[in-house]
Amino acid sequence: MSQRWPLPEDAAFETLSVRAGSIRSGEREHSEAVYLTSSFTYESAAQAAAVFAGEEEGNVYSRYTNPGVRMFEERMMALEGAEEGCATASGMAAILGICMAHLKTGDHVVCSRSVFGTTVTIFAKTLAQFGVVTTFVDLVDLDQWRDAMQDNTKMLFLETPSNPLCEVADLEALVKIAHDGDALLVVDNCFCTPALQQPLAWGADIVMHSATKYIDGQGRCMGGIALGSKKLIEPMQLWQRAAGASLSPFNAWVLMKGLETLKLRMDAHCRNAQQLAWWLAEHPKVTDVHYCGLPHHPGVKLARKQQQGYGGVLSFEVDGGREAAWKIIDAVQIMSRTANLGDTRTTITHPATTTHCRLSDEDKQRAGISEGLIRVAAGLENVEDLKKDLERGLSQL
Ligand SMILES: *Cc1c(COP(=O)(O)O)cnc(C)c1O
Repeated sequence: MSQRWPLPEDAAFETLSVRAGSIRSGEREHSEAVYLTSSFTYESAAQAAAVFAGEEEGNVYSRYTNPGVRMFEERMMALEGAEEGCATASGMAAILGICMAHLKTGDHVVCSRSVFGTTVTIFAKTLAQFGVVTTFVDLVDLDQWRDAMQDNTKMLFLETPSNPLCEVADLEALVKIAHDGDALLVVDNCFCTPALQQPLAWGADIVMHSATKYIDGQGRCMGGIALGSKKLIEPMQLWQRAAGASLSPFNAWVLMKGLETLKLRMDAHCRNAQQLAWWLAEHPKVTDVHYCGLPHHPGVKLARKQQQGYGGVLSFEVDGGREAAWKIIDAVQIMSRTANLGDTRTTITHPATTTHCRLSDEDKQRAGISEGLIRVAAGLENVEDLKKDLERGLSQL
């Protein structure tokens, strides 16, 4: 029979990321098995009845549960300090699942304006179709969050640090605003991962991830997860069983392998991003650098308090608008021209014409997305090579 391997209560983050949640099958394998099966079998009709009735523990169908997916959930629960977790097919499925479990027609949401573009679509379009209204506010302006609260506000949603300006939300203050209004605070922890930030420890109610990014860490597969108390995650599991946004068991295995190196990778992403930020800040052709690890960044104090590292994403600005920015992007020989992030490979993108292209000019200006802004998500290459790669274009300006 399968066996769980209990860990000492005081096991540290690195130990948990390698070992938490492992279940061994009767074959005594060392690396976790992949359970590529849609259904499960029983010794007898009576056992099937008992498992279906929930009287005996066991799996029924992989849309409901799968041992490999459960291992991934349990490892993430250990890393985020959560009582329960619900893995999903993508980060967006995690966001939708949280909303479907906790919102109903007539409810109101307050959401940071600087969240992932498709997250805006979920709130502004998908949920609006069902009579859930969302007010978008400035991530770092606490007065806007307070002023947006209504009697029917049920959820506050944010990402911190933000993309691409690296603004940092005050989690403690936002937890208080949410709870004073009997609303849930949901944090998209994609940019930090639990290696750098654990929002539940600051009082957030639900934390979610696009596991597609740093958790996989190597740009191979899609996945997502929501984590929190049993009380808050069980309704989402019920929705998930019916809706079928389940994580593939194969992807769960890939993501679990990603977690084993999470801390090492995040430390290296932070180191490369920090060094690029310092170098760019002193570069004569660069007019501004946005990275919450720089002493002049408005979010540096909060980042120091809430985070155990400043993350792998930074952005910088050059004079000359779109033409100058595109010149730098077109000159790179190492960095990948793509909007993805959280990969071993460094990526470079022009937010105004890619990730934020659907915003109106006015909204772009309000969000600080200028035509001369370039985002870099630092990968794990040699940082001197990365500097030289940016210099190819910068020297042409
Ligand atoms: C990519 C991303 C998402 C969406 O995740 P998918 O896995 O692509 O569905 C949500 N939030 C953030 C911050 C992201 O970067």
